[in-house]
Amino acid sequence: AHYDRIAKVDDKVHAFLHLDTEGARKQADEVDARIAKGEKLGPLAGVPLALKDVIVQKNVPTTAGSKILEGWRPPYDATVVKRLREAGIVILGKTNMDEFAMGSSTEHSAYGPTHNPWDLERIPGGSGGGSSAAVAARMAPLGIGTDTGGSIRQPGAVTGTVGMKPTYGGVSRHGLIAFSSSLDQAGPVTRNILDAALLHEVIGGHDPMDSTSIDAPVPPVVEAARAADVSGMRIGVVREFAGDGYQPDVSARVDEAVALLTKLGAEVVEVSCPHFVHALPAYYLIAPSECSSNLARFDAMRYGLRVGDDGTKSAEEVTSLTRAAGFGAEVKRRIMIGTYALSSGYYDAYYGQAQKVRTLITRDFEAAFEQVDVLVSPTTPTTAFKIGERVDDPMQMYFADLCTIPSNLSGGAAMSVPVGVDSNNLPVGLQVMAPAMADDRPYRVGAALE
Ligand code: GLN
Repeated sequence: AHYDRIAKVDDKVHAFLHLDTEGARKQADEVDARIAKGEKLGPLAGVPLALKDVIVQKNVPTTAGSKILEGWRPPYDATVVKRLREAGIVILGKTNMDEFAMGSSTEHSAYGPTHNPWDLERIPGGSGGGSSAAVAARMAPLGIGTDTGGSIRQPGAVTGTVGMKPTYGGVSRHGLIAFSSSLDQAGPVTRNILDAALLHEVIGGHDPMDSTSIDAPVPPVVEAARAADVSGMRIGVVREFAGDGYQPDVSARVDEAVALLTKLGAEVVEVSCPHFVHALPAYYLIAPSECSSNLARFDAMRYGLRVGDDGTKSAEEVTSLTRAAGFGAEVKRRIMIGTYALSSGYYDAYYGQAQKVRTLITRDFEAAFEQVDVLVSPTTPTTAFKIGERVDDPMQMYFADLCTIPSNLSGGAAMSVPVGVDSNNLPVGLQVMAPAMADDRPYRVGAALE
């Protein structure tokens, strides 16, 4: 049924880069066989899922939205994929994304943009626009995204879906093609809060294959989603993420959601996080710096594309020609920014300074969480913008992540919850941020609002 739905709508939406019809059929048969043998599988057994193409799946083409990986088939499964399989979740295919997860609109994909199912002329967010659009357009009930600066939550907000960025270290990064290793985190993309919690429980938890994985049980996310109870909870509205620069009906929907939480018994206060406004510039030094190091592995020798290997050129020339042809403009821009920021003589002024700002933002969170249980803000300053509108203006594109980036820099948990639509019927998201390993709190708030 889901492949039928994909056949019907995905030529317009373009959420998928690759459909693994044979593999999915085999997985579904395996689930049947396990059930027939009397094995007790979890509640998501047999449920189909759309997987962001930045996560490796054995023998299934994986591109991370880049030409440089065209034709590459990973030799192993990511831990996330292994856990999906164990739970009996069936992976339908790989979804479109901005190249190496760098972008906020999916327009930086080397394979063409994804369209927002609510308005095909608009972006579905990014970088994980494919997974969110697939879930929003009912092509898959579950999706997996990755969030380095907002790439699960921002697409969630603009497609009217739930997007959860777990605590950094809460879900294994083993088999996630690295963009910015200190920020990258995989998480659920779903239509409702309980589905997200059930999926979170499947993919979360310690993994010895990831040295940054937290050795602790998954927070009680399913229990919190079922409780849907905010009575007595203290909720902080981030003062710095309101006012000028925010689309008025985005602010209105957020205010209404906050009023509803008060009505449901939460105590709402305004909280100031003075350094949050510096998160964007700090992120756009830290993330490119880490990416310039991570992407060095794409040297034309080990993966996918190889250009100019005609027996007359040196290895360096082949590497250079391959990178010139294989990386898109945004990826090249980030590599150049990162290489510059890390170079001797500039390191302290740029990368070092950004790390200090990162610490100040973490302290803002710590101070705030002494007063409140969660912080809320709009997920994005505006609803979905038009395809083409910001693609040539990196600063405008980066602005889409204004509110989501602080939680990546601190490593806490954060979710985008759908809270209605704007005057064009475009979805609006409320962001709920929690301390590290308090992932259950956003579920509690999200479920209460649902
Ligand atoms: N849009 C942000 C960027 O371009 C965040 C991307 C992400 O979370 N992967 O870096």
